[in-house]
Amino acid sequence: KEEHFKKVVSHAKEYGFIFGSSEIYDGLNAVYDYAQNGVLLKNNIREYWWKSMVQMHQNIVGLDAAILMHPTTWKASGHVDAFNDPLIDNKDSKKRYRADVLVEDYAEKLHQKALKEIEKAKKRFGDAFDEAQFVETNERVIRYRTQQKEIVQRLAKSLEKEDLADVKALIEELEIADPLTGSKNWTDVKQFNLMFGTKLGASADKATDLYLRPETAQGIFVNFLNVQKTGRMKIPFGIAQTGKAFRNEIVARQFIFRMREFEQMEMQYFVRPGDELKWYEYWKEVRYNWHLSLGLGKENYRFHDHEKLAHYANAATDIEFDFPFGFKELEGIHSRTDFDLKAHEEFSGKKLQFFDPELNKSYVPYVIETSIGLDRMFLAVFSRALEEETLEDGSTRLVLKIPAVIAPTKAAVLPLIKKDGLPEIAEKIIEELQWDFQVSYDEKDAIGKRYRRQDAIGTPFCITVDHDTKTDNKVTIRHRDSMNQERVAIENLSEIIGKQVAI
Ligand code: ATP
Repeated sequence: KEEHFKKVVSHAKEYGFIFGSSEIYDGLNAVYDYAQNGVLLKNNIREYWWKSMVQMHQNIVGLDAAILMHPTTWKASGHVDAFNDPLIDNKDSKKRYRADVLVEDYAEKLHQKALKEIEKAKKRFGDAFDEAQFVETNERVIRYRTQQKEIVQRLAKSLEKEDLADVKALIEELEIADPLTGSKNWTDVKQFNLMFGTKLGASADKATDLYLRPETAQGIFVNFLNVQKTGRMKIPFGIAQTGKAFRNEIVARQFIFRMREFEQMEMQYFVRPGDELKWYEYWKEVRYNWHLSLGLGKENYRFHDHEKLAHYANAATDIEFDFPFGFKELEGIHSRTDFDLKAHEEFSGKKLQFFDPELNKSYVPYVIETSIGLDRMFLAVFSRALEEETLEDGSTRLVLKIPAVIAPTKAAVLPLIKKDGLPEIAEKIIEELQWDFQVSYDEKDAIGKRYRRQDAIGTPFCITVDHDTKTDNKVTIRHRDSMNQERVAIENLSEIIGKQVAI
């Protein structure tokens, strides 16, 4: 898995999907740029989400709120007081870590130790090895697993109670060392706010302190009544938005999984108080099916229901995905009650209520939220799509099996050779197709090499123009995944491609 992850990162760079930000200056930690192919894939994922949420639901409308918001927004939402991570510094190395991550990594090590024992036993006993029985009876495996569970539980309890002294005590008891230097000389654990601050206004004395939004959701809440009134929306209804969010993450690792500047795709669904859990179940299912519709494999998704709930929620689950570093949160579905709208009522002094003609009364609606990271979805798609295939003749090919609907380039048009009028025919095909599809032209190198290049960037179709094309008006269309080739009429190309890539 680790190997695969390395390949994912290097492939993303080598084939023009993702570069580190401002690389010529050695980059900026956990900030990334999407390159020529990456931006296409990212746009397509966003569009796939947008269509399924906004276009396909008559009672969901879109919004594009500003990144900068009135600073009181973040007081009302609780971010100023509570959007913190527990931090710890090592006194010797002066390195800073997230205290909870240090402990979690330690627990993970115990898990790995247990797995190693099992692997060893497998080697020793061969085919006759009964794994389940071994796990039950092997003392060492039991010890590692119990210890791991106890640590995770104690950490969760301390974090819930904001008992930072106990988190420190745990780090000391486990004798956790600085992963880089081995030093065990730690400071106390402190809370660190994850919001980026900035200033509005030029003169130093009058400038207002602002934050870059750490989530897009609040732009939806503060616009709730504006949209409801001007759109004459009736409950239940939703507001959807995609856009940048910023978090000063302490532990920024795992490539685009945890970034400091990232993009969210969120939808807030406003419902009658009391109906929220019904809609929560509804959106769990709808969002799960959205993921399955892309065909990345059902086995790569699972729900993780939260036992410990945030202060604003009465039910919450994550849709987790099997990333190259294991199952991790991809999307959150939260029943946020009326917490946000009530808080904004309180801080703004404005009513944020809906008059329900059926009930003949006004109320502050409850909210179900679906929130997915666009970059995480990109990583999910990209890491599952990348395959190194061994072909029948023993050679290998690198292929990105990105679902055709979101593939960056839909078709490449390739003249077999650079002369005899073939490039001109290819150009004409491009001129037709580019109205509807992202297509590209390539005439360099042998045809097999060009196919491989397109495989590596996930292009589902290669269209080859050869000498026969001049007389029969037909081309060869090659399918990326099966590598099958068929001869089709030029005039049918648009329909053939359209069928496969339509959202
Ligand atoms: P995590 O626990 O992984 O930090 P979170 O629970 O803080 O995530 P939410 O606040 O629920 O995340 O944000 C909703 C979604 O936004 C997440 O499911 C994730 O896909 C995405 N997201 C959150 N933080 C980041 C980040 N730093 N980089 C990329 N995507 C992110």
